[in-house]
Amino acid sequence: MPSLQDVFSPEGLLASKIPGYRLRPQQLEMAERIAAAIAGNSVLVAEAGTGTGKTFAYLVPALLSGGKVIVSTGTKNLQDQLFSKDIPTVRTALGSPVQAALLKGRANYVCHYHLERALADGRFLTREDAADAHRVARFARISKTGDKSECADVAENSGVWPLVTSTRENCLGQECPSHKDCFVLAARREALAADLVVVNHHLFFADVMLRDEGTAELLPACNTVIFDEAHQLPETASLFFGDNVSTSQVLDLARDARLEGIASAKDCLDLPKLCGVVEKAAKDLRLTLPVEPARFALAQLQERAGFDNNLVGLIRELDTLGALLETQAARSEGLESCWRRAGELVAALRRWQNGRADDGGTDYVRWGETYTHSLQLNATPLIVAGIMQKQMSGHPRAWIFTSATLAVQQNFDHYCGEMGLVGAESASWESPFDYARQAVLYAPLGMPEPNTYAYTEAVVHAAFPVVQASGGRAFFLCTSLRAMRRTRELLEEALERAGLEFPLLMQGEGSKNELLERFRRLGNAILVGSQSFWEGVDVRGEALSLVVIDKLPFAPPDDPVLSARIERMKQDGLNAFMDYQLPRAVINVKQGAGRLIRDETDRGVLMICDPRLIGKHYGKRIWRSLPPMKRTRELAEVLAFFKP
Ligand code: SF4
Repeated sequence: MPSLQDVFSPEGLLASKIPGYRLRPQQLEMAERIAAAIAGNSVLVAEAGTGTGKTFAYLVPALLSGGKVIVSTGTKNLQDQLFSKDIPTVRTALGSPVQAALLKGRANYVCHYHLERALADGRFLTREDAADAHRVARFARISKTGDKSECADVAENSGVWPLVTSTRENCLGQECPSHKDCFVLAARREALAADLVVVNHHLFFADVMLRDEGTAELLPACNTVIFDEAHQLPETASLFFGDNVSTSQVLDLARDARLEGIASAKDCLDLPKLCGVVEKAAKDLRLTLPVEPARFALAQLQERAGFDNNLVGLIRELDTLGALLETQAARSEGLESCWRRAGELVAALRRWQNGRADDGGTDYVRWGETYTHSLQLNATPLIVAGIMQKQMSGHPRAWIFTSATLAVQQNFDHYCGEMGLVGAESASWESPFDYARQAVLYAPLGMPEPNTYAYTEAVVHAAFPVVQASGGRAFFLCTSLRAMRRTRELLEEALERAGLEFPLLMQGEGSKNELLERFRRLGNAILVGSQSFWEGVDVRGEALSLVVIDKLPFAPPDDPVLSARIERMKQDGLNAFMDYQLPRAVINVKQGAGRLIRDETDRGVLMICDPRLIGKHYGKRIWRSLPPMKRTRELAEVLAFFKP
């Protein structure tokens, strides 16, 4: 077996396969630490600055380790990149026979059973959906994987997908007549047989940890779990360690029960009628809240006229439907499954209504979130550390948590505390980039307080000369959608006044990938975005030379989960701002700043307009956590930076 030196050295195995490969001491060091953690079954929290090459730093020891490894990434895009690009490169370089598998959530695979049901029913919302269903059927007949991303004839956001894929609730599992040909189960079997399985965080928490069918054996069989983009985990873990139930699940059940009735219980005339009653009850509950999607604390929900009564009404109607389904359950697996689902939904709604009784000492906050057509009721744990610890205990294995942004001034206490990583080792490697030469951190003088009226005007006013100097090529990262829209308007006016024609792009005017593609291609564009552009965005080279951050990204304190956590920390005598809100904001700023310099030749300016960065005592903790860029408050210095 080759040593890590053999792999990473300038004449090593990677160098022989990757054109332009250079040894980065940080990368080798990181690989050594990860190899040691794998060998010792320990927990390692590793921060690697942009450009360290962390992907290879964990893939090489993972492939050399000989055990079974799960790698979990932040998004499906990253999953695909890892599986189709990085893993094959490392595997070829090492000449390693390791078998890798890509596993996605079940919503990504066509479900034979529901596809057949939908086609038999033939009632689709639009003609296009009906045509898409037939396209999916053709695809399912010839596809080996059933992965919807390979079904090029049907758009990713087609309305037909929810009808022809499965959910954990509506999957019939062993009882399914298509069990033998099932794509979901085939993908899971393949993952079980592989040495290296690539998943994403949502799948990891939803299925692997919580043991959905066919994934239950995955974690027990594995020796190493590696989380990339691990800064996202506290959020994901909260989401999945909690409970939630949605009116869209109720609507799905009503639809499925109706279809099952048509297939196996045509004579049960009450069934379609009751399905209609349940649908109406679910919609009525949604209608007690404003149309615009939002999040609501429990008290806000209970204050809404009709909320409590409509919730009681929905539970009652679902219960009645469940009782009817019980009388029909023996007639088909599908009807039996609907009966079971009705019971589970009633139980979940009651649990939410009454608060969880079996919480094992964990506090949960109850809240609701509305989407255009549905309402989701959530119970989220205030602290995930204990649950995470329990999940990680048992069989000894190595756990690696890595990201470019985990620490606050080299300190991992916040992250480890939140994730329950007691006794974890930690390490950080700085980016190999020469930030002092490549980048400038600019905090403009004379900015008003961020809560003042016309703050966005002040941001655009201060940033516009820099935008002119950089020739567009800028990201504006805003902390709210309202600020994002206003920024776009103001930039449009300013560009017109100045007679400049830099193309303006805004989040929402296309998919994130499309927008980024256009941004790269245009070469002088300005992209205005909010949260979703703060991370996971990679624009190398000249197209991006300026990142403007309007305000320090503190999460809104009226968010139901955050405000409950703050309250809880206060009760425990902790300083919620310093111990929780600030570290989270630091990680967010680091993510936003990380968009700017992506390789050794990139140059650019990070402009943070919020005066609290300099004016408040905690601002220091933020800028000291950033890479060591040259710092200035002088516009002239920034303009000079862009001069050829
Ligand atoms: S086992 Fe589940 S996912 Fe597979 S075909 Fe049957 S219902 Fe669909």
